[in-house]
Amino acid sequence: MDYEKLAELLFSDIKTIPEEYENKYAPRSLPKGARVTRFAPSPTGYLHIGGLFSALISKLTADVSGGSFYLRIEDTDKKREVEDGVSGIVKGLSDFGIDVTEGVTGLDSEVGDYGPYTQSKRVDIYKCFAKDLVRRGLAYPCFCTPKELSNMREEQEKDEITSGYYGEFAKCRNLSFEEISKNISAGIPYAIRLRSPGTEDGKVTFDDLIKGKIEMPENIMDIVLLKTDGIPTYHFAHCIDDHLMRTSCVVRGDEWISSVPIHIQLFRVCGFKVPKYAHIAPIMKLDDGGKRKLSKRKDPEAAVEYYSKSGYPKESVLEYLFTLANSNFEDWRRANQDALLSDFPFSLKKMSVSGALFDLQKLNDVSKNVISFMSADEVLEKTLAWAKEYNTSFYELLVADETKSREILNIDRKKAKPRKDIAKWSEVLEYVSYFFNEIYEADSSALPENINRTDAVEILKAYNWNATDDKDEWFQRVKDLCEPFGFTPNVKEYKENPDAFKGHVGDVSTVIRVAMTSRTNTPDLYSIMQILGEDEIKNRIKAAIAAWEKK
Ligand code: GLU
Repeated sequence: MDYEKLAELLFSDIKTIPEEYENKYAPRSLPKGARVTRFAPSPTGYLHIGGLFSALISKLTADVSGGSFYLRIEDTDKKREVEDGVSGIVKGLSDFGIDVTEGVTGLDSEVGDYGPYTQSKRVDIYKCFAKDLVRRGLAYPCFCTPKELSNMREEQEKDEITSGYYGEFAKCRNLSFEEISKNISAGIPYAIRLRSPGTEDGKVTFDDLIKGKIEMPENIMDIVLLKTDGIPTYHFAHCIDDHLMRTSCVVRGDEWISSVPIHIQLFRVCGFKVPKYAHIAPIMKLDDGGKRKLSKRKDPEAAVEYYSKSGYPKESVLEYLFTLANSNFEDWRRANQDALLSDFPFSLKKMSVSGALFDLQKLNDVSKNVISFMSADEVLEKTLAWAKEYNTSFYELLVADETKSREILNIDRKKAKPRKDIAKWSEVLEYVSYFFNEIYEADSSALPENINRTDAVEILKAYNWNATDDKDEWFQRVKDLCEPFGFTPNVKEYKENPDAFKGHVGDVSTVIRVAMTSRTNTPDLYSIMQILGEDEIKNRIKAAIAAWEKK
């Protein structure tokens, strides 16, 4: 067979040769050991938290090695595509701190020297390399119809032999040039298949950077490289793109592990260096006592959008993903409270082999901690940004008096042990609601059972708030309310002899706290009252007396 002639027959429109692309996309000049990684989603318009996780791991792998990370869009599967499926992905990544500096940066925009970074724009490149394989006798056209292929599969299954297009079943493997040109003249559609050099008992081994050493049977299938419409399969595009974009470490979901023998074979057949692989186990969720994958269909928290809508700060989501990424992260964090995430010595080797468990409760705890260390300015700024998009009436309320809003959010901040009340910006509304008469609804039932209402009324009637009191003076005034009403200012004394008193100073504070906020647990009451101001304090005391006297 004259393969040269066959290549011309099949790809008469392709004039380029691989060397041209090899020269155009020269190896990257990076320090030794630097890794080039990528995130390569399909443009489904939807970013799964597992996708974000994968992108993060990929980026960290590049970052810790001083390498590069880029975003490639894999749009060869038209079935999975939606209109503008790219912007949502790019936004999802940037919302959570993964800024793309190479590759696709938005709908129809990209940066970098290794583009185009969208597969549908690379069809001529794939054809050039497929043509070269045909020229070298390593690929051939296959005219089998889908019907023929499924019949063959059925037969193989019936006979209980490995199903697929290989060996004696690869019907088009040895067609003559004449047969091929006759078919082509007759307009019969054809795919381009690899002429697999694999043997039944051949083995392939590779060292996965997460899973360790893996040995698998060699690929023997004459897999499709280009489909009948000339579009490459995932396998072929992966090989060509990751080679020409000079990816040195392919970080991707572990559903691809079973395809690695195909990929290694393709890289070798094409004469390319095989990249390193790091296969990530999917993020799991506990459900009904068992573990399952986080599902796009069943779990709203599978979509990255869920976190922006609920108002989780990107810092929290990232911090949480780090805990899932490396089990030693939490110890590191405890020892390095103020360090940047980028200082963490991330390692692929410390990733879970079987799949990290996703736990919203844990995310909330992590987030409360992250937010507790933010300044009031930061909390206000981020809450405003969230509210502007998702709760405009709350936004209006907060911006109407930004100084007051900031003071509210500043209570109990910047302490050695800051309060951890807020996990997401949507919770700030509830957290600050009692400061705003527009939304505050006093609740007279909030007084705990152990405090007698008549006593509470008497305490409030006797309470004399003074605007100029400092915190100590303020507290002394609260203590002074104790004895006249049968309470003790001394908690220890109360504990030693509880029957001798109606309660202690904490209960007296609770009376005032509930009158002010309708809550028993709030940040520092002195600060709250400073912000509420004299008129409001008087109004609330009056209202509480009226409500408690009624019952
Ligand atoms: N486009 C593939 C997917 O969405 C990416 C796999 C890879 O990273 O190579 O599953």
